[in-house]
Amino acid sequence: MAEGKSHASTSIVPLSNIAREAQPAIPSPSPDAANPSTSLASADGAVPEVRLSLRVSEQFVSIQGEGLDSGRPFSFIRLFGCNYYCSWCDTKYAVQHWSDTYDERTPAELAAWADAQGNVAVCLTGGEPLTAPAAPFLDLVRRLKASGHYLDIQTNGTIFRPALAPLIDSWSISPKLGSSGMVERPAILRRYLAAQADGTLRGRLLFKFVIADPRDLDLTWHLLQAIPAIAAQQIPIILQPEGLEHASVADYAQALRALTEAVALDPAAAKWRAYPVRVLPQLHRVIWGGKRGI
Ligand code: SF4
Repeated sequence: MAEGKSHASTSIVPLSNIAREAQPAIPSPSPDAANPSTSLASADGAVPEVRLSLRVSEQFVSIQGEGLDSGRPFSFIRLFGCNYYCSWCDTKYAVQHWSDTYDERTPAELAAWADAQGNVAVCLTGGEPLTAPAAPFLDLVRRLKASGHYLDIQTNGTIFRPALAPLIDSWSISPKLGSSGMVERPAILRRYLAAQADGTLRGRLLFKFVIADPRDLDLTWHLLQAIPAIAAQQIPIILQPEGLEHASVADYAQALRALTEAVALDPAAAKWRAYPVRVLPQLHRVIWGGKRGI
């Protein structure tokens, strides 16, 4: 897909037509910093306008490389913008902290593209896809569901949008731990868990933790202890070695081996058996290294 900012496909409607959801406070940079068109400010008193297009970093077809759908063919829509800037982020080109390159696409264009790829499964990822403007994002999700797609969202677990809860088939939530330089947000994770418990969140929920060092594994354990609903609801826990620092597949295999032994084989590993834990690689990294767009 050609890169570069393109605003030709932007659709504009009055803000008063858009139902907006309240968002939790999040660390800087904020979602509105990523999407200035959502600002409520209006210097001349005119009715503010909101952009109905989405900022897209890339669209591509590949296999799912992470989590419980690993290996399944997917169509990926990577939205531009994130409310975090993790030290080991492997999609810096989709984060405004490092990049300003994106295309604008309407929900109709994105849904038509997904339909044309022939994959049932579609992954909405980023960046942080839930920092996208609420109205066009919901529009996209509804269009994809109307076409019969299976929808997976990859999110950092800092934002909860109730309107999406009944529509998404798979929530892959990846709280950021110490090595990322960011912090997890347990209050938001509890909202996801509560929504699953009361039935309003219908899709599968899983938590995926990127482990860069032993401290991350300790932080994962402490987070699981702090939120008993994770064990009570038997939420799948994916432990995934951080991949950016491992230059070779052999290095990555060694990291996988160390992590596997820590949670499954070591004498201290027994505590992890209270959880449905899986140690999994980034499959796309094993197959294609750090290549982008696949
Ligand atoms: S949350 Fe994800 S996309 Fe955002 S900076 Fe962290 S790793 Fe990158």
